[in-house]
Amino acid sequence: QALQELMTSRIAEYPDFPEPGVLFRDITPLLADPVAFHAIISHWCSILPERIDYIVGLEARGFVMGTPLAYELGAGFIPARKAGKLPGTPRQISYSLEYGSATVEIAENAIPAGSRVLVVDDLLATGGTAAAAIELVRQFDVELLGASFLVELQGLDGRSKLPEVPVTTVWSIP
Ligand code: 5GP
Repeated sequence: QALQELMTSRIAEYPDFPEPGVLFRDITPLLADPVAFHAIISHWCSILPERIDYIVGLEARGFVMGTPLAYELGAGFIPARKAGKLPGTPRQISYSLEYGSATVEIAENAIPAGSRVLVVDDLLATGGTAAAAIELVRQFDVELLGASFLVELQGLDGRSKLPEVPVTTVWSIP
């Protein structure tokens, strides 16, 4: 209940951003409130699978949410980045957006085989971003524990793009 209140009061809504027809949820007020931020991370840790070796966070807000979770749980943090940011020869996967496509990358030897891995992002909308990241993570021959999000927009049915992946969310908006 208190948590629900925190989420509704600290996540702002912006109609028609970044384009007409989209209702954007802005998590920055939650990050700026130290009490709310701490409460959310503590609660989030309590609903995650056990014995996580690595959290893979999706650029950019998945970094912001994924690092405190990893720190708190004693797990490692691995960034899944947009194309062209990582040195070396990262593994990559491209996926289609409404207009055009995007590429996500993880450093070549970042995740040891057999590791227990959780994918984290701030928000699950259509599921395209998370589905691509999960496909990329699976290339590493790891034990994928699931995907976890601060916010889920249920109406967009992102979960249907993540079959066979346990999904946890702090706040599901119908
Ligand atoms: P999807 O691929 O599921 O449609 O979109 C999810 C990705 O877009 C996530 O990386 C998320 O950060 C970003 N995103 C989409 N809509 C929103 C929104 O309303 N608020 C925030 N904070 N991020 C969004």
